[in-house]
Amino acid sequence: MGKRRLDVTNGGAGGDASGGTSDGTPGTGGSSGADEGGAERGGTPAGQGSTIRRRAFLIGGAAAVVGGGTIAVLAGQDQATRLWYQVPGVEKPRRPGELDHPGAEWVAASSANWRRADRPDDFAVDRVIIHVVQGSYRTALKVFKDPAHQAATHYVVRKDGHVAQMIRELDVAYQAGNRSYNERGVGIEHEGFVDRPEDFTDDMYESSARLTAGICRRYAIPVDRTHIIGHVEVPGTDHTDPGPHWDWDRYMKLVRAAREKLETQSPSPSPTGA
Ligand SMILES: [Zn+2]
Repeated sequence: MGKRRLDVTNGGAGGDASGGTSDGTPGTGGSSGADEGGAERGGTPAGQGSTIRRRAFLIGGAAAVVGGGTIAVLAGQDQATRLWYQVPGVEKPRRPGELDHPGAEWVAASSANWRRADRPDDFAVDRVIIHVVQGSYRTALKVFKDPAHQAATHYVVRKDGHVAQMIRELDVAYQAGNRSYNERGVGIEHEGFVDRPEDFTDDMYESSARLTAGICRRYAIPVDRTHIIGHVEVPGTDHTDPGPHWDWDRYMKLVRAAREKLETQSPSPSPTGA
């Protein structure tokens, strides 16, 4: 507690360089200290894992097997047409400045702090990871725009509830110090310090809860503490955020309420946010 080290950072012991990865790929870097560790940024091509994962995916519960670029089995043609963008290898269109969270301000992170992906098709998105900056909103934006930082989250929430989106949810942010959790997670930073409960304002809780509710809706993520976790709960991390003053009961209540409200507002979720 009381640590003032910036949360998502490439400094010191913040990385997972020693931990390897969940899919057995050994960490190869170690010297960079990057948040993702050597396995992500070092000798082992990150694309290798995604290529393997691209060979099998699910459409409407039926397995579609892809080999040599052709689909061997498809559940239903109409479904396949409707979900054309879910066919591996067909990258979803994207425009600069496009947002996933309505109302957010787009502030692009340096491309050195994330990697291009095509989620949720290459990697399922099933975790929302809650962080606290250990610094200000401005500091978070500044370091996430810095290519030397080698870490960033998708979103940063300010004390007044303002949200910056810095990385598309399609893409993998170097946020958790764990490759698997980076690939499956959407990360939200919150302005403030873990040992200053007064930093977690009503506006921040409410705005963040709406953001998390939207993410849960887009990817059909259950609203529970298995799927909405703190950075501290990521396997292998030495980070403590969001810390003991983050009011999880209150937060989850707000997320559930926001999630229900979203359901009544518009009927069909958009996987890409648009
Ligand atoms: Zn964190």
